[in-house]
Amino acid sequence: MKIDQLYRQIIMDHYKNPRNKGLVDDASYLTIHLNNPSCGDELTIQLKIENNRIIDVKHQGHGCSICCSSASVMSDTIKNKTVDDALAIIHEFYEMIKGYSFNDQILTGEPVVYQGVSQFPARIKCATLAWKAAEKGLETKGGTKKHDG
Ligand code: ZN
Repeated sequence: MKIDQLYRQIIMDHYKNPRNKGLVDDASYLTIHLNNPSCGDELTIQLKIENNRIIDVKHQGHGCSICCSSASVMSDTIKNKTVDDALAIIHEFYEMIKGYSFNDQILTGEPVVYQGVSQFPARIKCATLAWKAAEKGLETKGGTKKHDG
């Protein structure tokens, strides 16, 4: 099997069987809503953070397969990470999506299936929407940004 076929299978698996899907009615979760007008994607992410660690991630939304599957992959990826580790992973994800070299010690596992998106600029916002929402939530929790200033 070619690697891009394998990647496509992983993306479709997350699209059809999303992990951590569904919102909770719980005020201890941070809720972040973002949309991507260029594609019509709409996404809500919820994060539960305790002692600087992300102990739960939820997501719900409508959109294309790239956007919805990416929310599922993101939720699996940052769950149980510290806020700073998650922000570092998100930063490397953006580098990869833009087609730049990225640190494969920090960004490991399923998120690398979106590498090919860098060749389709119109889809970059789809792939990063969930990660942007998570980043927004983590930054309000006082995580330190990789690049200050
Ligand atoms: Zn989209």
